[in-house]
Amino acid sequence: MIIKNQILELKRELGNKIIIPAHHYEDPQIVEVSEFVGDSYKLAVDCAKTDAEFIVFCGVYFMAEAADILSQSNQKVIMPNLSAGCPMADQINRKQAEKAVKLIQKRTPKQIAPVVYMNSYADIKSFCGKQDGSVCTSSNASEIIDYYLKQDKAVFFTPDFNLGINTAHKLGLADNEIVKVEQDMEINDSYDPAKVKMYIWDGFCHVHKVFTVQNIIELRSQYENIKIIVHPECDRGVVNNSDISGSTQKIYNEIKNSPAGSVWGVGTEYNFVKRIADEFPDKTILPLKKSICHNMAKITSEKLLTSLGSINAHIKEGLELKNVVSVDEEDKENAARALNKMIEIVES
Ligand code: SF4
Repeated sequence: MIIKNQILELKRELGNKIIIPAHHYEDPQIVEVSEFVGDSYKLAVDCAKTDAEFIVFCGVYFMAEAADILSQSNQKVIMPNLSAGCPMADQINRKQAEKAVKLIQKRTPKQIAPVVYMNSYADIKSFCGKQDGSVCTSSNASEIIDYYLKQDKAVFFTPDFNLGINTAHKLGLADNEIVKVEQDMEINDSYDPAKVKMYIWDGFCHVHKVFTVQNIIELRSQYENIKIIVHPECDRGVVNNSDISGSTQKIYNEIKNSPAGSVWGVGTEYNFVKRIADEFPDKTILPLKKSICHNMAKITSEKLLTSLGSINAHIKEGLELKNVVSVDEEDKENAARALNKMIEIVES
């Protein structure tokens, strides 16, 4: 409570010079003191629309980078804890992406279009923009991939295998039209390159990968009318055995708009599930399993307070600003191209 009051006091002092966005998976204590909560892309867009000079980003590193890429030139992005990374985004770097695309291009007669999930670092988004590819989010992945497939291009999708394969099946692709690209660049040779429509990098989110079909069976056996809703970063079997799958925002909206008395089994990050269970006490909201993103949890109230203090000291005493997230200008430009391509496809 003391820390929360200190944060609120500093927020009052800093006024509209700062904005605090929080990702859905942040601890409720962080969400409580933030201006808005949401998925990574929406947070980055919403921050850029404000007049705040300092964006104090409560989420993981790739999200803060996205906020910097889309920010106005006078805005600075600060992270309360720079070590909050993303193990899934860590599973591919620019060199690996370039090598994979070269390797695939040698085998296929089709042109390759890279599509990179929002949950990736700026260098991968930049690589994608340079190659005329697009970023996608978990809610628009099928639209973006379909756009390239309709041009008879083969899509190289990275980094999350589950989102890739779940989207491929949603689009009606057959198993022989999909090839997994192992992280050691091993590509199964037994496929017909002329048929392949998607090459999917073998990355994963450990937070979503832990859910199993057995978790769903157990909840269904306990609650007759339960609806199962999961994130598409979950395994294919889990998605196939759920009633609904979608982004964290979609999960939130579905539950919010369901009638009182509804029972939900939710396959996504535990802090989020717990928060919505508290927000909608007229519904029964249960996690498929308690799975926490420990990187999101690195953004603590103490770290947030230190960040706000550092901004205050910078403004008042000219002290060095700490924990600034600043994407290299060339990467910024190319990553913005890939992000703008996503908007262009979705709006077309
Ligand atoms: S939940 Fe998964 S994808 Fe999201 S930040 Fe954590 S590890 Fe990365």
